[in-house]
Amino acid sequence: MPLPKAELHLHIEGTLEPELAFELAARNGVELPYADTDELRKAYDFEDLQSFLNLYYELMAVLRTERDFEDLANAYLARAAAQGVRHAEIFFDPQAHIARGVAMGTVVEGLWRALGESEARHGVSTQLIMCFLRDESAGSALRTLEAAKPYLDRIVGVGLDSAEVGHPPVKFREVYEAAAALGLRRVAHAGEEGPPAYITEALDVLGVERIDHGLRCVEDPALVERLVRERVPLTLCPLSNVRLRTVDVLADHPLPAMLDAGLLCTVNSDDPAYFGGYAGDNFDAVRSALGLGEERLRELARNSFLASFLEHDEERRARYLAEVDAYRF
Ligand SMILES: [Zn+2]
Repeated sequence: MPLPKAELHLHIEGTLEPELAFELAARNGVELPYADTDELRKAYDFEDLQSFLNLYYELMAVLRTERDFEDLANAYLARAAAQGVRHAEIFFDPQAHIARGVAMGTVVEGLWRALGESEARHGVSTQLIMCFLRDESAGSALRTLEAAKPYLDRIVGVGLDSAEVGHPPVKFREVYEAAAALGLRRVAHAGEEGPPAYITEALDVLGVERIDHGLRCVEDPALVERLVRERVPLTLCPLSNVRLRTVDVLADHPLPAMLDAGLLCTVNSDDPAYFGGYAGDNFDAVRSALGLGEERLRELARNSFLASFLEHDEERRARYLAEVDAYRF
């Protein structure tokens, strides 16, 4: 049995495996520029962030109907459950779908068809976090929040993703203020490729409760001290960092030093179909490449539940934490 864990940094569109991409393409009459799943899988061996994003957006063309989003989420939840994920807070990118003529309602209702049954079917509790694309305008983010208003009973919070450099958090001050006023939780990608100052800005200007990635905080000791003092969770994605060349090799990843510094780190899969593994694969990878011992792995699992948005159900959080404490490696 794998170590129980929560996954807090997972883009549902990044879970699209080649086999499902072809299945949905056939169902929707979408032509993919790849002969078969083998050829497509080779394209998943991209070079850098831009070639990844190109493929990522190209393949979204196969997601058209509620059933497509339902199938996508069910495929992820089945894989996550098999790797010990007990709770998942799932990102989605509505702007990428609305731009293709797929309505907000189709995306949310489709995902919800899978999420609403996830506990019974997969044993995984879930929450949904709507992300704004930071390389789109602030006005587009505001319109997206407006479009989401009929579905806010299904969305726990907002996030910020896509290309980071040149799009500082402050650009989205207004939409984050509006989200806060609607009672939504707030997270943001910061300090992945962007500088440590983006992390500070996400905390101070956007009022975020967790930092997604946050890896580059290690360049600023005063910031590390603050993150430790304020117990700000960081949702790290080690295999993603290697594939996108944020770190050269996994053995160079600063995770052990970050844990030693007292940072509240969690380990997640980001876009697992593209980055070489799901949540459990990331745990296995850091265990072997970084030599993390059992108590460090248990700490990462504990952190994932401590950082989860489970305030509405503390009994559940306590149950998950008890599972982690009782786990025998
Ligand atoms: Zn991400």
